Amino acid sequence: MGLHAGRRRSKRAARLQRADLRARDGNNGRYYPQADARLANNPDLAPGINCCAVCARQFITKVCPVSRRVRYCSAHHMLMDAKARAPSMRVLRTLEMLKDDLEPVSIERDELGLSRLANDGFGVVEITPPAWAYAETMSYPLSVAHCLTALSPFRKVRRRAQSDAIRIVIMGASDAEAAAAPHVWLSCFRQAGLRGSFTVVLVGPELSPQEPAEAWKETCDVRLEYLCETAEDVLEEADAIIGFNLGLTVDAYDWGPALERLPAGKPIAFFTNSLPELKAELEVYELVCRVRTVRPNPFRSPRWRQSTSMANDIYRRHSYVVAGTVEV
Ligand SMILES: [Zn+2]
Repeated sequence: MGLHAGRRRSKRAARLQRADLRARDGNNGRYYPQADARLANNPDLAPGINCCAVCARQFITKVCPVSRRVRYCSAHHMLMDAKARAPSMRVLRTLEMLKDDLEPVSIERDELGLSRLANDGFGVVEITPPAWAYAETMSYPLSVAHCLTALSPFRKVRRRAQSDAIRIVIMGASDAEAAAAPHVWLSCFRQAGLRGSFTVVLVGPELSPQEPAEAWKETCDVRLEYLCETAEDVLEEADAIIGFNLGLTVDAYDWGPALERLPAGKPIAFFTNSLPELKAELEVYELVCRVRTVRPNPFRSPRWRQSTSMANDIYRRHSYVVAGTVEV
């Protein structure tokens, strides 16, 4: 009896966890199998953008009257999708109103107000409005601090980060990641209880090379380096490796050589934007490392976005994190 009860409980727990992931994603995770063949034959199809959101037919007759963004072949398919995605539709509608502050802003120490973050044991952080731009920029260093303090593959590095100099390589960095100044990173690390010093190497094809502000070079325990190139040559010296939204399903970015050269024994975390991306990329991460943790990221960017590949898919950036190590 005990065995069956245990099995029922674990099944129920797994179901609740899946439901929780879906709810947090802002996307109901609905897949339409009738679109699969068309999408497999034509990689340029973006459901709801240039073809029907349900069946991927390129014959468009309807646009969703609620979101005004998602396109369909027929009233029948529009109705089918609207029922499944009512919450997403409302968010899509409001995206227009959130568009005006997309650019990252430069942050001065006094403006930042780290006290805006209500920190509950570093598990839950609430960022109060009106700090949209701050909150988005803060999301990156907080996510990295989360890896160092909360994810089991990082346990050894966390101990060393109490006193030693730690080198963290971030793959897939964009200028948004690079917008936070060294003292912002340091505040996040210190708030997380990490007392060592850090070099954060930001690597990404979209990154603008830049020099850290002179004032922070000598005075700050965080040094930022910006590399607009591939990551494979800097991985060996890293103490921890973190990938932000690598977009492995997008051909434009080739992270293959870097993923093949992940050094053994080092903690690695990958962030993905959405649940569909997590599902698509998890297989790759399981190939390149031994995955030990998959969970929602409490420090995801607070800004909702519409997917460019599925019109009715909404997500926040780096919503999920997968962490593991490469076997020695
Ligand atoms: Zn259709």
